[in-house]
Amino acid sequence: MLKNKVGIIFGVANKRSIAWACANSCLENGAELAFTYQGERLKRNLDKLTAGMGDTLVIPCDVTNQAEVDRTFEEIDKRYGRLDFVIHSIAFAPREALEGEFLATTREAFLTAMEISAFSLTQVSLAAMPLMKDGGSIVTMSYYGAEKVVKNYNVMGVAKSALESSTRYLANDLGSRNIRVNAISAGPINTLSARGVKNLGSFLKQVEEKAPLKRNVEPKEVGDTALFLVSDLSSAITGETIYVDCGYNIMGI
Ligand code: NDP
Repeated sequence: MLKNKVGIIFGVANKRSIAWACANSCLENGAELAFTYQGERLKRNLDKLTAGMGDTLVIPCDVTNQAEVDRTFEEIDKRYGRLDFVIHSIAFAPREALEGEFLATTREAFLTAMEISAFSLTQVSLAAMPLMKDGGSIVTMSYYGAEKVVKNYNVMGVAKSALESSTRYLANDLGSRNIRVNAISAGPINTLSARGVKNLGSFLKQVEEKAPLKRNVEPKEVGDTALFLVSDLSSAITGETIYVDCGYNIMGI
């Protein structure tokens, strides 16, 4: 499905990362992938994960550093001369902002969460655009806390609202170049980032009880949706937020 397509994946911290599930779905379907990481510790994880893949591009990229973002796409240009898709699977907010009242969010925590978790999609899309010469697809990861109040999710919920809105504005700006931009709103999954939100366990339990499918989502199911969104199967879908949450979001009382 992705034969001859080149993609870059932001956000593999370890084998539990949603980005890694996306990578596996894309690799199984023939994609050529490059990866970015933040910090030496994560480079070691990525090097282990990509060990069997041959000469994979693994590039340092902290999105708060514009020079690193620019260098990332220069490396892609040098190696491939083009790009077909981007999977943006990164977010961050200081831990203390992910518990207690949203009201107590500091200016610093608010700006950090917005910069890394929302603005970075625009930053990366702008840098990817010139390489997407035959059109392309950009996919990001959101969560239900973007639209409803979820206890302790706080400033990350506000950042995810901005992320989903950015998805729509970017889809409009990039549509004439045949570049599509979509978000996946994934149900809760036990990853490194998710453990930063207080009481993740209770989120998982609630989904099991309330979602129509009576279970939590598997990372592979999110990965397969990303595969669909970066493939030509979704060629008329852009600006959407697609729920991969076992139906949790449709439920009222
Ligand atoms: P992970 O912790 O595995 O991945 C988050 C990634 O973001 C890490 O690789 C992390 O690197 C990276 N990151 C943080 N700050 C920066 C930065 N400044 N520059 C570059 N990368 C950075 O968690 P998930 O796989 O759960 O998260 C992936 C995405 O999915 C996030 O957007 C998250 O909000 C979203 N999501 C997660 C859900 C869940 O329940 N797990 C549900 C719905 C959406 P580092 O470790 O160095 O900080």
